[in-house]
Amino acid sequence: MPLKIDTYEFTEIIQATPDVKIFKFKPVIPETKIFNYKPGQFLMMYMLDSEGKPTNLARAYSISSNPIQKDHLELTIKITGKFTNMLDKMKVGDRVGVTGSFGVFTYNTEKHKDTVMMAGGVGIAPFISMVRFSTAQKLQNKIFLFYSNRTNKDISHLEELKRLEEENPNFRAIYTVTRDEPASGIHEQGRFNETHIQKYLPALEGKNFMLCGSTAMVNDFTAILQALGVEKFRITAEKFG
Ligand SMILES: Cc1cc2nc3c(=O)[nH]c(=O)nc-3n(C[C@H](O)[C@H](O)[C@H](O)COP(=O)(O)OP(=O)(O)OC[C@H]3O[C@@H](n4cnc5c(N)ncnc54)[C@H](O)[C@@H]3O)c2cc1C
Repeated sequence: MPLKIDTYEFTEIIQATPDVKIFKFKPVIPETKIFNYKPGQFLMMYMLDSEGKPTNLARAYSISSNPIQKDHLELTIKITGKFTNMLDKMKVGDRVGVTGSFGVFTYNTEKHKDTVMMAGGVGIAPFISMVRFSTAQKLQNKIFLFYSNRTNKDISHLEELKRLEEENPNFRAIYTVTRDEPASGIHEQGRFNETHIQKYLPALEGKNFMLCGSTAMVNDFTAILQALGVEKFRITAEKFG
């Protein structure tokens, strides 16, 4: 069956960090329902031609919004190349094609009772959805987030994550910056390594690990976990390329 690509329009665009924007959007036709999705899944976004029809120019984006909230979708996007430079020029009211949902990198409330999330840069995108979901649902599931960025200014969603930590006693986040002096409230300097994991999580048995970011970062995180003896089946990852 061909994909059903609906037309969406931007309702809000927020500059989250020097090179990351948060895009909120909803279907142009009010009767169009936003597709169902699980926390962690991604959608495909398409540029439209001059007649408003989807072109072949498309990219995958993890959904940051909470699936329970049905009125809009939200993405966290790093401006880096062809597609994202076009997105960077978009304004509220501009349109794109959207279809979803896809992917198996999902937060499963039964399986993920005790989860360690490791995000590099914009790899925070799917975890925002998961933590929003878990907090809104008042789940007892434990979430420990390691979030790595180059500089203090590159940490997107920091204020919201701090609020979620206050609201949700089962959620804790640890931040590191790799090319900056850590600002107040930022815990570590340098790439996450075995020592950091052992410092914050002395016992790893029974935990599930979810990793997201560039291929290089995900490979680094995987190597650290394997060096600490974490079994492969406990690790799931989404690579942004
Ligand atoms: C499942 C999945 C989920 C994803 N979720 C997200 C998400 O939530 N947020 C997000 O920001 N991204 C996400 N991505 C990545 C996204 O799909 C795009 O790949 C990304 O936005 C880059 O697209 P682009 O067209 O802007 O860059 P492209 O033009 O495709 O370029 C890709 C990379 O190549 C570099 N590059 C481009 N041209 C050149 C050149 N001439 N010389 C050297 N280097 C060059 C760019 O700097 C960039 O780093 C996801 C990917 C996958 C597979």
